[in-house]
Amino acid sequence: MKQKKAIVTGAGGFIGNHLVSYLKSKNYFVIGVDIKEPEFSSSQADEFKIADMRDWSQTEAAFKSADELYMLAADMGGVGFINTVNAEVARNNTLINMNSLQAAHVLNIGKVFFASSACVYPEFKQDSLHAVSLKESDTYPAQPDTPYGWEKLFAEQACLAFRKDYDMDIKIARFHNIYGPEGTFKGGREKSPAAICRKVAQAKQNDTIEVWGDGKQERSYCYIDDCISGIDKLMQSDVSDPINIGSDRLVSIDDLVSIVSKIADKEIKIKHDLTKPQGVRSRNADISMAKETLGWEPGVALEDGLRSTYDWILAQM
Ligand code: NAD
Repeated sequence: MKQKKAIVTGAGGFIGNHLVSYLKSKNYFVIGVDIKEPEFSSSQADEFKIADMRDWSQTEAAFKSADELYMLAADMGGVGFINTVNAEVARNNTLINMNSLQAAHVLNIGKVFFASSACVYPEFKQDSLHAVSLKESDTYPAQPDTPYGWEKLFAEQACLAFRKDYDMDIKIARFHNIYGPEGTFKGGREKSPAAICRKVAQAKQNDTIEVWGDGKQERSYCYIDDCISGIDKLMQSDVSDPINIGSDRLVSIDDLVSIVSKIADKEIKIKHDLTKPQGVRSRNADISMAKETLGWEPGVALEDGLRSTYDWILAQM
């Protein structure tokens, strides 16, 4: 059988690096593209191109004809990042995504995956505790709470436009809080699971750690291995609408601290910092569409995924 060729953008990042390893295990020839190499392990990509994809000529030079393109490059981070960096996120991600789609079109790459986000969903559906689980059909009328979310929503629309005019097969997954080993855990771009694992790992017995907001805000979390299998199932499917890839187990941030404290076998006290960003009040994923159309649902329990993540972060420190 002919070896398939894939381009993975954002291959130096958390999900992109895991995806490259997965595609290699499926015998793909993989070209990774990113502005930087992976931070915590070396990429298994056959070729790794350093390119600033905000720039068309660098994007064009890094891309080659391929069977599949996975669009994961983005200027992104956790709640502390996407709620404070606005203009750069809007500009950088718009340029990256438009250049990626145009390069796929010019090079005739027929099959494309776009990493969208739960951040596309309207704020008014997420402004109280125990809010409804977000279904794909909840997207419009649109009111994402950040420029990051608005850009993802526009990029989804751009994917649909390229599909219409250029007959490209484009799959769109809306990731909901993906976490796991080799994700950023310090420096300002880390997300809540990694930040809490780091704080608990640094704490001694009976120490107090700082938690952003009142700790009651709720999220659902999906382990990296489940995310990768979701991407794969979506790419093999005939699903053409944007689809949630996430977990429907809603937990509060304080719950997350208590799960991680148990894993670490530490008594931890919490000090809430109400001055720090906390994002929407409650965000959960409805994953019935993924279950029905892809036969996919997450298999890794939060406790198990957090244990691997905690152990990895502890080892890094
Ligand atoms: P990440 O930050 O680890 O990876 C993104 C990568 O994009 C980074 O390696 C970064 O260097 C690269 N990048 C940024 N600017 C670039 C540029 N100008 N040119 C080339 N590369 C550039 O993030 P991740 O968690 O791996 O996320 C991957 C994708 O999934 C992103 O598109 C993100 O928006 C989306 N997503 C992630 C989550 C999550 O929970 N991790 C949730 C929703 C959506």
